[in-house]
Amino acid sequence: MSIPCPYCQHPFPPGAQSCPGCGASLLLEAVPGGTQPVCAVHPTLRGLGTCSRCGTFACARCLRAGPQGETLCVRCHQLEPDAPLPWDQREELGMWRAFWKTLGQVLLHPGCFSQARAEGRTSDSLLFTLLCSLPACFMTGLTYMLIFTAMPWMMEALPDPNPSTGDGSGLAFMRWMGVGMFVATTLLGPPLSVLMTLMGAGVDHLVLRAGGVTRPFNVTLRAHSLSEAAWALGIVPLIGTQVAPVWALVSRFFAYRGLHRTTTGTALAGTLLAPLATCCLCGGGYMALMLAIFGLAAQK
Ligand SMILES: [Zn+2]
Ligand SMILES: [Zn+2]
Ligand SMILES: [Zn+2]
Repeated sequence: MSIPCPYCQHPFPPGAQSCPGCGASLLLEAVPGGTQPVCAVHPTLRGLGTCSRCGTFACARCLRAGPQGETLCVRCHQLEPDAPLPWDQREELGMWRAFWKTLGQVLLHPGCFSQARAEGRTSDSLLFTLLCSLPACFMTGLTYMLIFTAMPWMMEALPDPNPSTGDGSGLAFMRWMGVGMFVATTLLGPPLSVLMTLMGAGVDHLVLRAGGVTRPFNVTLRAHSLSEAAWALGIVPLIGTQVAPVWALVSRFFAYRGLHRTTTGTALAGTLLAPLATCCLCGGGYMALMLAIFGLAAQK
């Protein structure tokens, strides 16, 4: 939001001390006893804009841009909670410490979101998602490989239904298949989860917007990406990938409510509406498919 210059009406952004249009200084002396508003902090300076939070007049020195570009006074700007998460402090902490500390906070103290910095760069958010997906993708790939390498031995234990092909080529094929599955899951899984995060955050953002949220998409993406922390539990074989989706939804609710500073209802809708709709669609599609198959079978 910008404010018109008192001389030329050219809009200037909060924080500017001279007009970008006519170059005049925006620090205007207040006329003693005049009718014009004066700054709440500097009574000798004219108030040029009002704070969108507390409504007081602020001079050019006291005007600030809020997290959504709104006009704030210097006091309300200081009160704006802006605690950086460890992930925002990678330069000081180092990549891995920042990652582990963020995992701990998101998984165990999701309340931290209500005080946390809302905005984050898209690349930072997606990098976090990528790192979180690695353990689950690696473990899933490993599980596939073990199943495929173990399967030939299990089949060998069974009577061979077709002895003419029992030359061992099937065994080798299964083993290579297992290795292939491992490589494919480990390599393709992480970029795929980044893509899913982008799409998921996009859909959730539409729901949140409908619920009255005004903060930009990068806040939703940051919340969605950070809530992927639970997928790091995917390193626990078999159980991890079962627990992760539920835990991720719980974290996402806290992240949406905290970073968007929105109501519990809007945050719940943003978290659950898209997954529920997907379930219904998939469930519906599955039912239709089953009915069609039964229908075809009944006709024969
Ligand atoms: Zn001007
Ligand atoms: Zn204020
Ligand atoms: Zn002032």
